[in-house]
Amino acid sequence: MQPQGTNSFAQGTLVELKALAAQGWEFSKWEGSVAETYSPETTVILDSGQTIKAIFIPTSEPVIVEAPGGIISRPRRSSGKTDIKYIMLHAISDAAANPSAPYNMWRIKAIFDDYGVESHYVIDREGVIYQFVKDDSIARHAGAGSWNNDPKLTNAMNRYAIGIELLGVGTRAEMKDVIGAFANTQIKADDRGYTQEQYLALEHLLHHLTELYEIPRENIITHQAYDPGRKWDPGALFDWNKINL
Ligand SMILES: [Zn+2]
Repeated sequence: MQPQGTNSFAQGTLVELKALAAQGWEFSKWEGSVAETYSPETTVILDSGQTIKAIFIPTSEPVIVEAPGGIISRPRRSSGKTDIKYIMLHAISDAAANPSAPYNMWRIKAIFDDYGVESHYVIDREGVIYQFVKDDSIARHAGAGSWNNDPKLTNAMNRYAIGIELLGVGTRAEMKDVIGAFANTQIKADDRGYTQEQYLALEHLLHHLTELYEIPRENIITHQAYDPGRKWDPGALFDWNKINL
């Protein structure tokens, strides 16, 4: 079959599929009712109109840049890297102070310093991944909250989670109490939500981290899910369908 597009076959035809990865990518799985989901060569019986998708993941490790001001030194996790079991997704911006230019990475660094918080990674609007804290150290990003009725996670997620911040601003409703009414009117439409470059970088980083620390898909959670009473991020504009895991 063609790499992309629509083909027509007689009903009941058995079609052979072969996923060919471009350089720098490897086959991950099929989406659709194929015979073998995880085999790059498989078949599908076309008994009705179907969409079959081959999912590829990058073979290379993501490029990670050191944060402005360098890596922030933080206490190590109690059991080092074996504590890493979750990934928490967040959004951050400088929209409260600079609503018309909310994405200066040095300002993000200043916000971290001012509030005594930080996350392991921040992904900018161009998809560049910055590391602020080493994975084996505790970053202060999760705060109070609870997850999955697991008492050891209550108000203690920082010990177990890697924090990833996307530079982003949520909907007007989400931001109203976060940045104030005036700043909310100054945000450019393009500055709300997330960019395609960010989704690609996040997908790459998540593949890397979940493989490295054997983190299951269901352990990638949002800050809002951990603390729905106080937190909105990454919010309604974050589209899970744009990342293949
Ligand atoms: Zn957050």
